[in-house]
Amino acid sequence: MIKINEYLGGRIFNTVDLAYDEINYLKNCGGKIVPATFKKDNKLFCRRCLMELKPLTKNLKYCRSCINLGKIQASDQLLITSSDVLYPIQQSYLSWSGELTVIQQKGVRELLMAFKKKQDHLIWAVTGAGKTEMIFPLIEQALLNKQRIAICSPRVDVCIELFPRLQKVFPTTTIGLFHGKSDEKYHLTQIMIATVHQLIRFEEAFDVLIIDEVDSYPLAGNQMLHQAIKKSRKKSGMIVYLSATPPKELLFKVKKQQITMTKLYQRFHRHPLPEPQCRLLLKEINFLGVNPRLRIHLRKLIKNHQRFMLFFPQIPIMKSFAQELKNLYPKLTFVDVSSKDKERLTKVQQFRDKKVQAILTTTILERGVTFKKISVIVLDADAKEFSKTSLIQIAGRAGRGKDSYDDPVYFYYRYYNRQIHLACAEISYLNQQAKK
Ligand SMILES: [Zn+2]
Repeated sequence: MIKINEYLGGRIFNTVDLAYDEINYLKNCGGKIVPATFKKDNKLFCRRCLMELKPLTKNLKYCRSCINLGKIQASDQLLITSSDVLYPIQQSYLSWSGELTVIQQKGVRELLMAFKKKQDHLIWAVTGAGKTEMIFPLIEQALLNKQRIAICSPRVDVCIELFPRLQKVFPTTTIGLFHGKSDEKYHLTQIMIATVHQLIRFEEAFDVLIIDEVDSYPLAGNQMLHQAIKKSRKKSGMIVYLSATPPKELLFKVKKQQITMTKLYQRFHRHPLPEPQCRLLLKEINFLGVNPRLRIHLRKLIKNHQRFMLFFPQIPIMKSFAQELKNLYPKLTFVDVSSKDKERLTKVQQFRDKKVQAILTTTILERGVTFKKISVIVLDADAKEFSKTSLIQIAGRAGRGKDSYDDPVYFYYRYYNRQIHLACAEISYLNQQAKK
């Protein structure tokens, strides 16, 4: 007997991967069979990822863009399962006792208005504004309307951090967390938390689609993922974009009135964003093992038991710095993390649980993580890996707690360049606006 829940919900399957019985059963449950490719302007496109199929040879045509999800040949057929699903009625939906600030409440009103009008909406909120809390009432409304919600981020860490938070506030609703690194097999849930990549597997599946960190890698500039977002929302649905540093294309759509926007300049605790202290290094960061100027700073932090994050542009620089730190300060407890680190989530948790005093990281932790009472230090802030957006996000890791709103941020560099200038100028501008 097939477990229908592992299929339903606007999910796309290649019929070659399904047994004859399964196909029939899923068709009876409202699924439809469609060709795997379609023609437009004399070009051939893949129905799953909407990218063009570039022929390798005359007879061998398959989609290379979404091959990671299983091969789709030009002659294949896809089965798209029904997204008409009845979810169980719950006694109550949102269980949250927190309070929204006046500014957040205004954002919520605008968001609910957009929901009513089925209008795509952008929330441009400074880091630490509490945008996650602002989507709770929207999700509640959608649930009350018996609808399905997906919350997606390009970054898996963001999804993983979001999952327990939502489980807590929507305790009776089914919530699933799906991403490439998880062992959990897809199954139908009323709320789905997933990486944006997962959306490639869906067509017209979600009534409310929330995209967090819309400007971040790998979503930024990735045509396939952007198309996946549009394709996976229902025709009658809406998309909500969340960002502290929205991309130009979205702001352009706001300007053309294709989407509406809410701007939040203020953090939830009403204190300004910490403004980075810019510090010039005359020699590189590893000069004499660790640059003497840096050493003074680090020694002070260690002595005062102050917790800190150190951001590096590249993994090798971080690794050699970590070695020097060990030599210089054998008593300092720290972890280092990067995108290549399989233990990343555990290590981040160790830092969060205060089991170590410091965390060394690349831009992988520039967003989506919240720690309290920390100093944030960027080394080689003038490196090309640190864009303006990146620097703003990193600075946004500081001062997130009500009781530690003035955590310091330091940018160390050898050349004060354009991105450092732009990042500092934007943070200061946002603070000015918040005062108005
Ligand atoms: Zn494809």
